[in-house]
Amino acid sequence: MLPDYHMHTYLSDGKDTHEDMVSSAAFKGIPEIGFTDHISIKPVGWAMEMSEINTMIEKVNAVRKNDTKVVVKLGAEIDYYSGMEKQIGELIDSIPFDFTIGSVHFINDWNFDTDIRPYDQISIDKFYTDYFKLVQQSAKSGLFDIIGHCDLAKKFGYYPSFRLERLYEETAKIFRKAGVVVELNTSGKGKPCAEFYPSAVFLEKLAKYKVPITLGSDAHVEQNIGQFFEEAVSELKALGYKEIIKFNKRKRETQRI
Ligand SMILES: [Zn+2]
Ligand SMILES: [Zn+2]
Repeated sequence: MLPDYHMHTYLSDGKDTHEDMVSSAAFKGIPEIGFTDHISIKPVGWAMEMSEINTMIEKVNAVRKNDTKVVVKLGAEIDYYSGMEKQIGELIDSIPFDFTIGSVHFINDWNFDTDIRPYDQISIDKFYTDYFKLVQQSAKSGLFDIIGHCDLAKKFGYYPSFRLERLYEETAKIFRKAGVVVELNTSGKGKPCAEFYPSAVFLEKLAKYKVPITLGSDAHVEQNIGQFFEEAVSELKALGYKEIIKFNKRKRETQRI
């Protein structure tokens, strides 16, 4: 099994403790995990309070000290907000991260990841254009090691009237130029879109531009750690990927697949 670099505990919107997550990984034979509870500069209910950041660091250090076969990394899934790069950067620099995931969950004040009501009232074409623009900006910001679920706009199965290939190609090129890693997030499989983030077509573009990949289950309960990884790895191999990325104190390492 391969490292799982995206999961949430009770500290943000997950359910289980750090200990639960580590024992589940050990049970499943996953050699390394990265905790990535939500951090958001704008206060939102499903993210950690700023005062909980120290608890996050302590919890991760505590499970690291336990004698276990699982290597534990400190990450976070951080909301990207256009125009707030400086504050986000200062916050990141104050935490001893192994890696950061940058995610776009908001278009203006709309959390399109959890609030499904507006989808029927908006232009889905504009939504996709706005979404990908923000994702591209998040990559160019230089704040994040990994770009999270990079086509989350499709989560609830709403698609634009135009073909997405051109937008995927443009975004893949920007990822490459920005030097970011992109995660293959397997959680989309269980959502209405019923496929990984990114989609197979988008992943093909990422492979074309040699954008490196991490694997993440986005587990919010311990049972989902490492979910669908076998399928994800065969998809990567079919596209010519020979390795995935791991991080140590924000430096990249590779692992063969
Ligand atoms: Zn997310
Ligand atoms: Zn997540």
